[in-house]
Amino acid sequence: MTSRTLDAIVVGGGPAGATTATLLARHGRKVLLLERESFPRYHIGESLMPHTWFTFERLGVLDWLERSGSPRKHSVQFVSTNGKVSEPFYFFRTIKHDWASTWQIRRSDFDAMMLENAATAGADVRQGVTVRDVLREGDRVVGVQAESAEGDSTVYRAKVVVDATGRDALLAGKLGWKQRDASLNKIAIFTYFKGALRDPGLDEGATTVAYIPNKGWFWYIPLVDDTVSVGVVAEHDYLYRETRDPEAIFRREAEHCTWIREHLAPGTHLGPIRVTGEFSYRATRAAGDGFCLVGDAFSFLDPVFSSGVYLALKGGELAADTIHAALDGGTINATTFEQYERDVRYGLDSFRQLVLAFYEPSFNFGEFRSRHPDLQSQLVDALVGNVFKDLRPLMDALGTYTGQTRWAEAASP
Ligand SMILES: Cc1cc2nc3c(=O)[nH]c(=O)nc-3n(C[C@H](O)[C@H](O)[C@H](O)COP(=O)(O)OP(=O)(O)OC[C@H]3O[C@@H](n4cnc5c(N)ncnc54)[C@H](O)[C@@H]3O)c2cc1C
Repeated sequence: MTSRTLDAIVVGGGPAGATTATLLARHGRKVLLLERESFPRYHIGESLMPHTWFTFERLGVLDWLERSGSPRKHSVQFVSTNGKVSEPFYFFRTIKHDWASTWQIRRSDFDAMMLENAATAGADVRQGVTVRDVLREGDRVVGVQAESAEGDSTVYRAKVVVDATGRDALLAGKLGWKQRDASLNKIAIFTYFKGALRDPGLDEGATTVAYIPNKGWFWYIPLVDDTVSVGVVAEHDYLYRETRDPEAIFRREAEHCTWIREHLAPGTHLGPIRVTGEFSYRATRAAGDGFCLVGDAFSFLDPVFSSGVYLALKGGELAADTIHAALDGGTINATTFEQYERDVRYGLDSFRQLVLAFYEPSFNFGEFRSRHPDLQSQLVDALVGNVFKDLRPLMDALGTYTGQTRWAEAASP
């Protein structure tokens, strides 16, 4: 495939890039996907939301998920700072469909499968290729300058460039569009254990969110091979108050959180301990002439509700369909992506409102549900990822806790 014939270049082969490339290729478009790493490679972000099911169905990867041995996630449960475990929030209580359960995935395997799926669909997938910059003609992006693992530089041109570079946020960084979300300024310290405790039966694959003091929390996510992903998320100043050694911090917090301590006790630490800072951000715009931003390359939201992979998949779908529809009509401009940007912001804002409520000390899910029985089904929608619908009554009610009622200004479905 010569670069002259390309419809689209997708930069980054995570869930957002792989989805965009797969669907554009299925639409009959000529797509080049450039990925810096050689897959399988490590990635965090292992717990899925039920609503991912619909994109997986469209991509044709449900069969792989069924056979992957990934634990089934039927529920999420919360553990208070005094060790009280909530009634699990079982998705099947309200959803009477196959998508009522989802999976806990090892990302190295999952992402490799998704990239393979893009290649099978007809995308030209090249790994070990780093995009260093975009080519511009005036304000228009017309291609990329890429470098192979051997250091060879190549220029590729296409009608549209999709930035799916994840938290590297290549274009948002270069354009000065990346803005931190000051309300959600956390860090995460995370690692893996083998042989740690799992709850029995249906709860074996549940995500557990265990609160720690000062608005922090642990995640506990059972994965394949008897491995558990466990991490702590909290304010920088709280976690670093005594030491900056991530291992010492992780051990201190795990020791003080009874549920986590007891569940990790029989396990063997697999390491390493990883740290992620610069938590939540959003680009000021999602597109320009000749390009758009998808997934974490546009925005990253605190992962407490496991929304990241879902938003990457959904963003990839929306971007691919938008580009496909526009390609026959002439040049692709910033205006091509107006509806795409509205939709993506709308979904993000719904999750963000939930996340802000989660961190609000006066907020409690049980109390909220008894105070607003009429909003129960909207709350379930939001928690399973069904956020691209009108959730304004729920969001307005949550806004009375978070003080942020001007949500989703740019959008309505
Ligand atoms: C601590 C933490 C916990 C999380 N937990 C969850 C969770 O439980 N559930 C969930 O759904 N989400 C979770 N997430 C979020 C999730 O990881 C992301 O939202 C998701 O991976 C986004 O997918 P993406 O395709 O946009 O980006 P990525 O998956 O990051 O993929 C981007 C790809 O682009 C490549 N790339 C980058 N720069 C270049 C370049 N210049 N040239 C070529 N290639 C490039 C990278 O190598 C990478 O493969 C978590 C995130 C963090 C930080």
